[in-house]
Amino acid sequence: MIMSSVYTETLNKLIEELGKLPGVGPKTAERLAFYILKAEPAEAMKLAKAIGDVKNKIKRCEICYNLSEGKVCQICSDKRRDTELICVVEQPKDVIALEKTGTCRWVYHVLGGHIAPLEGVEPSDLTIEQLVKRVRSGNVKEIIMATNPNMAGDGTALYISSLLRDTGVKITRLARGLPTGSTIEYASGKMLTDAITGRQQLQ
Ligand SMILES: [Zn+2]
Repeated sequence: MIMSSVYTETLNKLIEELGKLPGVGPKTAERLAFYILKAEPAEAMKLAKAIGDVKNKIKRCEICYNLSEGKVCQICSDKRRDTELICVVEQPKDVIALEKTGTCRWVYHVLGGHIAPLEGVEPSDLTIEQLVKRVRSGNVKEIIMATNPNMAGDGTALYISSLLRDTGVKITRLARGLPTGSTIEYASGKMLTDAITGRQQLQ
């Protein structure tokens, strides 16, 4: 902490907390803290409330584990969706990226990450068991694996497909139009649309 003794304890605490945000260095944290200090009380409280609301109101959808403010998310509640198609993604951000293409009529399953034993992420840390249960108990025709096109994403897709092999459900993987090692989150809409159209069956 630089020049910590110059600030009051309270201001110091705010700078410290802001400095934990991604991409915010000590200088930016300091600037933001002074901005908040000078702001109208109502404005500053709006920010505080927005942070509180995000933590208090946003939950996981009971069906697909996407972000939701109710028990079931907007996509799962949408009657026009084809529930026979489940697109499996790592993060809620990937749902947003895929939805932006405007080509998806399916529903999702959000894993909450990828299998990474070296980072301590085991299959049981993800919603894989819930996905298997969902596939076995529902009327599912196809699982579209839209985990990231990198080693961890590929490994996770293969692991899940091995668990579902005996169900007879068709399992596909987004086409390799996406650069290897890239992520769904940062792929362009055109790339994603091509990858969806050209998806191939996983063996
Ligand atoms: Zn849902």
